[in-house]
Amino acid sequence: MAGFHTMAVHGGRDDLAALGVHAAPLDLSTTYPVPDQVAGGEALQALADGVAEASSPVYARLHNPTVARFEKALALLEGTEQSVAFGSGMAAVTAVVQAAAVMSGKPHVVAVRPLYGGTDHLLSSGLLGVRTTYAAADRVADAITPETGLVVLETPANPNLDLVDISAVVAQAGAVPVMVDNTFATPVLQNPASHGATYVLHSGTKYLGGHGDVLGGVVACSADRAAALRQVRIVTGAVLHPLGGYLMHRGLATLPLRVEAAQRSAVELARRLAEHPAVGVVRHPSLPGADPAGLLGGQLRGPGAVLAFTTREAPADVVRGLSLITPAVSLGSVDTLIEHPAALTHRLVPSADRSACGVPENLLRVSVGLEDVEDIWDDLDRALSAFAPGDGEYLDAGARSASSRW
Ligand SMILES: *Cc1c(COP(=O)(O)O)cnc(C)c1O
Repeated sequence: MAGFHTMAVHGGRDDLAALGVHAAPLDLSTTYPVPDQVAGGEALQALADGVAEASSPVYARLHNPTVARFEKALALLEGTEQSVAFGSGMAAVTAVVQAAAVMSGKPHVVAVRPLYGGTDHLLSSGLLGVRTTYAAADRVADAITPETGLVVLETPANPNLDLVDISAVVAQAGAVPVMVDNTFATPVLQNPASHGATYVLHSGTKYLGGHGDVLGGVVACSADRAAALRQVRIVTGAVLHPLGGYLMHRGLATLPLRVEAAQRSAVELARRLAEHPAVGVVRHPSLPGADPAGLLGGQLRGPGAVLAFTTREAPADVVRGLSLITPAVSLGSVDTLIEHPAALTHRLVPSADRSACGVPENLLRVSVGLEDVEDIWDDLDRALSAFAPGDGEYLDAGARSASSRW
């Protein structure tokens, strides 16, 4: 099998040579002529039953060749048989809950916090007719009942970079399928399916697209599970637009290089932030104490490019002092982004639940981009140094590390 960088460049492009084209065609058709209506009907039936490809796409809600190329490429990178793309990461989460918990008649979900705020809210709201029990990663077995249709976890977790041992949770889940949100790690750093995850989910809006200009989601899994997800996608209409499929497929080609470069900068920035007098706790898997279970170098091949830190100043004031870093939600773009989870991405998670799972009110989340690391540091340092010590308000370095969890 080819190396990862080679697969990222060539995956899902097997048919291009025969088509005589270099770039993957962007097929915007909403409908496809079926001069033989009997054959067209058979294709429609096969697609409605969940096949990956039929003799005709028939209609764009059933199949799209541009999206299908992206799905093939992503499955290759995750080491799964197939993948199924959706119109957003949340549409993908919804489809997994529908396929695993609702369709199976097991409407109970066990979830490990913290999770992306939208996922947390979806599971807590009962909107899909499921009931959710939140459990610590080592207590998942206790939370499972005969009604449990799905276990959900995220690692590294959004927003505090907690690490979860996937195979340990899979072992506790037994026969219950486990969904791992792999958005932060990307397939470059982690392949949850190789640790027993049933569903590997990505918000493609983040690193896969990689340029902040496409919304999408994708789930990598076995062929059987993918067929059920496609059935859900066809009836709910949660399809990815072909332009989204095109952009995310293109994004995969540079994914390893982008993640590796941003990760290098994140390691350096995490180290410097941990020394900064205006900073409290820094969270990044590269830092001492961040990986008690020893997952880095095994399950997680690198610490990734998202970090988080607390400050003693109001997070909003720190963000206001930045000029280069983009103050915005989302992550995994070419530019460095910063946001205040308690105010934005995790606003809908009750504050008591946030603090119970290690998301302090004054935590800022940074998605490190591809700018020169010194420029990113200068911006952070300038904003933080506006609140420089000298007034005795800050603890000294020794007291700070002793008081921090890590
Ligand atoms: C953004 C995000 C999602 C949701 O994805 P959308 O594309 O915004 O719907 C899910 N999980 C994680 C970890 C995310 O960061």
